[in-house]
Parts: sequence; structure tokens; C-alpha cells
Amino acid sequence: MNICHCSLCRKQTGTSFGVFAQVKPEDFEYVSGASLVERFESSPGNFRGFCSVCGSSVPAPSPGRPGVPIPAGTIEGDPRVRPAFHMMVGSKAPWVELHDELPRFDEFVLGHEDAHLPNSDDD
Ligand SMILES: [Zn+2]
Repeated sequence: MNICHCSLCRKQTGTSFGVFAQVKPEDFEYVSGASLVERFESSPGNFRGFCSVCGSSVPAPSPGRPGVPIPAGTIEGDPRVRPAFHMMVGSKAPWVELHDELPRFDEFVLGHEDAHLPNSDDD
């Protein structure tokens, strides 16, 4: 799970940052409602999804991406994972102050082989 401060995540969520649980593409499938998911390409090759009925952010796999981001606020119950790091901190909203001890990256780090991410071997 990661916390992303990029402007696109802020706009998608309508809040100060996005929190996403990442799953491997091969481990993701819709169990219902797939036909209700609308997608838009927020940046080249990166799709974001929302429910065409209620407008909620929902997962939308992007072909070729290393993970499928699950908007954490849509997860029912305790997912038993917690945020491991902040990314795109260089783009964070000016009113946000970070007070936790999580690692912080100024750039996008998911999928970068050289990114040393805590708990990356725990899946
Ligand atoms: Zn983001």
C-alpha cells in the first residue's frame, strides 16, 4: 500500500492524496460490476476507473503496468496491509504536513527496479 501525492491522485480522490493497495495484475479480477466501470487515461498508458453508477473510484488495470492500484477507501474491512511509503512527495499539496516515519520519495517509484521499498518481499 502506498500514499501518492501527485496532482492526478489528488484530483481523482478529491482529497489531499491517494492511498492505494497494489496488487499484481495476474492476481486481480473483477468479481462483479465490471461492465459498470468507466475508465479514463489520466496519463499515457495509465488508466483510472470510476463506477458509472455512483462515481466511486474503482480499480482499472493499465496494460503493461507492474501493479493494479486498488483505491484503499473502497476496500471493505481491514485489508491487513498498511501504507509502506509516500511517493510524489515533491508534488504534495502545500497544506499537507507529514508526521509519520514512512519513507518518502519525491518521484513515482512503483515498478522501478532500483527502488528499495520496505516490505517488497513480503507478498
Ligand atoms: Zn498519484
